[in-house]
Amino acid sequence: MKVGVLALQGDVPEHVRALAGLLPPDAIVAVTRPAELLGIEALFLPGGESTTIGRLLHESGLDEAIRTRLHAGFPVLATCAGLILLAREIDPTPGGAPETLGILDVTIRRNDFGRQRESFEAEVDVDGLKEPFPGVFIRAPRIVAVGPRARPIARWGDEVVGVRQGSIWGFSFHPELAGDPRIHARFLEAALGPGYAKTASHHATTKSTKHTDPTATASQ
Ligand code: GLN
Repeated sequence: MKVGVLALQGDVPEHVRALAGLLPPDAIVAVTRPAELLGIEALFLPGGESTTIGRLLHESGLDEAIRTRLHAGFPVLATCAGLILLAREIDPTPGGAPETLGILDVTIRRNDFGRQRESFEAEVDVDGLKEPFPGVFIRAPRIVAVGPRARPIARWGDEVVGVRQGSIWGFSFHPELAGDPRIHARFLEAALGPGYAKTASHHATTKSTKHTDPTATASQ
């Protein structure tokens, strides 16, 4: 069984690293073309720059290929820019909004946590996790509305910072930058069945505090 990481732009290596503690190396595939989706059982959409990733999705034809699979129940975990790209609606944003896959029943406002909070770390409560999760927020999108098809699964105070709609999971923060594999592990268990991922506790020993900004090289 293989899983894919969309590798057009953004924090792809960080997702691969997060998965490397949970899956054998040959089970993790970088996806840049529609053909590479064949044989993949779940997909990770990284953080980065949503306008850039959106354009490359369209140019590669991956937008249609992914949308078709999502309608058929394909498991996807999307973080930050990835969440933006799945959203049904984007509030008007200075600098424009990317074309999205329009499938996840949320309204998103990009870069909406204010200047002083453009990047920050906060404890997030995630459904199914006993202890809070270290949420790394980098120019994060705000989930301003959750429609009836999606349900909140992660909160920072009163703020919804993660949702699930069937097999689609989306977070406004970056689990891949936390040095904590619990969210990736839970998603893999839900997507591929229990026992497929090695136990998260076995791998939860490394905790990095150094974070890279996936948008640092972006133009917007
Ligand atoms: N601000 C970025 C965007 O709108 C997302 C930030 C991120 O992925 N860390 O695309």
